[in-house]
Amino acid sequence: MTTTITVLVDNQAETGLMHEHGLSILIEHQGKRILFDNGQNDALFYNANALGIPLNNLDLIILSHGHYDHGGNLSTLLAANPNAFFYAHPDCLQTRYSLHPDKPPRTISLVKSAVKAIEVFPDSQKKLITKASEISAGIWLTGQIPRLCHIENSGGLFFLDKEKKHSDPLNDDISLWIETENGLTVICGCCHSGIMNTLAHIKKQTEQTAVHNLLGGLHLVNADPRRLSATIDYLNKQNIRNIYPAHCTGDSAISLLKKHVINNIHTAQAGLKITL
Ligand SMILES: [Zn+2]
Ligand SMILES: [Zn+2]
Repeated sequence: MTTTITVLVDNQAETGLMHEHGLSILIEHQGKRILFDNGQNDALFYNANALGIPLNNLDLIILSHGHYDHGGNLSTLLAANPNAFFYAHPDCLQTRYSLHPDKPPRTISLVKSAVKAIEVFPDSQKKLITKASEISAGIWLTGQIPRLCHIENSGGLFFLDKEKKHSDPLNDDISLWIETENGLTVICGCCHSGIMNTLAHIKKQTEQTAVHNLLGGLHLVNADPRRLSATIDYLNKQNIRNIYPAHCTGDSAISLLKKHVINNIHTAQAGLKITL
């Protein structure tokens, strides 16, 4: 049975679809419909409608981490899918800020309606996980990703308070992988854990080693040259068939990947469909 992956929301979009700063990816696998993240604003429902994809019969709703651009439509989705299971890391509900030296602190937590929707969703269907978990046959969530590669920081000036006393490690950042006979397909939200930490963690959990597809935000937008070159060296050693850098990877990082990574680097945008 084929597995289909459709990018519903991304910072870029095919002609006729809406783009926004956010991410949402639908996975259709063995009769299950799994939504990984749900964008920030209106692009999710606009694009799903344009593509003829219903969003009221989802089996699993996953939140990769508690940032506003990944969970903006949670209240609508959880209400429209009362029988679905919801998966995230427990820290996704934290209040958090992004700080820039010359700008006022900006709240980047989940919107209040999303927090409320998660809180009132039935406990029996709410799976707040910290460990790697198989959520459907052959589909896994990483759980919390150990930060062993210290060159990979969380990717920005992220704090849990406006006073910058407590930095936000984004421990709730989780990724997903699918095991197929052609190898692994790995899907990241923002990859605040770093792609080297993420792939190393996944490879410890599974016997499969070949990565067929890597899709999602790689959050290299603020990465320094040392991290970028280490990431490029690492990806070149991983024998990944296809890489689809999306969302927060950053235009200049994508150009560098296209130039220096030997694997196929493809354009990711809303409307992209991958069949496994
Ligand atoms: Zn993001
Ligand atoms: Zn994020």
